[in-house]
Amino acid sequence: MTEPTKDETHDEAHNGTLGSRLNWLRAAVLGANDGIVSTAGLVVGVAGATDDRSALLTAGLAGLLAGSMSMAAGEYVSVSTQRDSEKAALAQEKRELKEQPEAELEELTELLQDRGLTRDVAMEAAAQLTERDALRAHARVELNIDPDDLTNPWHAAWASFLSFTVGALLPLLAIVLPPAGWRLGVTVVSSLAALLLTGWSSARLGAADTRPAMLRNVMGGALAMGVTYAAGALLGAVGV
Ligand SMILES: [Zn+2]
Repeated sequence: MTEPTKDETHDEAHNGTLGSRLNWLRAAVLGANDGIVSTAGLVVGVAGATDDRSALLTAGLAGLLAGSMSMAAGEYVSVSTQRDSEKAALAQEKRELKEQPEAELEELTELLQDRGLTRDVAMEAAAQLTERDALRAHARVELNIDPDDLTNPWHAAWASFLSFTVGALLPLLAIVLPPAGWRLGVTVVSSLAALLLTGWSSARLGAADTRPAMLRNVMGGALAMGVTYAAGALLGAVGV
């Protein structure tokens, strides 16, 4: 690992909040993207088989609820697991600090030396940090955790639920609101337009090239709708 320069460390500390806000925003855009693709694929598939508005509404709504709850549950489980392992790491650190304070002081000193401090300065800094709040210092420097800012699994679950729902509402409304002859066209065009937007946003948030991201995103959505429409039309034609 290369040693971070003074400037990098400084930027990192400053961008901590901004970085986590960007992560949330990116997760929200991805959730909405999932909602658009899966619901558009679902309702376009059903529309391939039937013209019945209530069948389209039922399928779309069931898809929206199933998708948003599955996203929320998945997020809850994954964040809870991460939080558990962070808490376990903090508990172990606390135990080590109590049982072998000298070894821990030496460990912190070496970690600070790895970050570019001279032996003397690192010893002094480690001593001061240990005196003020040893656990926090080890959490930050050794584990890269902020003990006061562990992600709340309920917040993450709600964010996924909401963002998926917002995305899913678009194709759902687009398939049930327009008159029968317009449904498919309105749904396909509005979903692809929304996918252009989510593709653009996620590329911008990740500081990546926007055009290939938008193209890939639209192709993925178009493929999903094409495949489900073909399947629905086939089933509709054979009268299953
Ligand atoms: Zn430690």
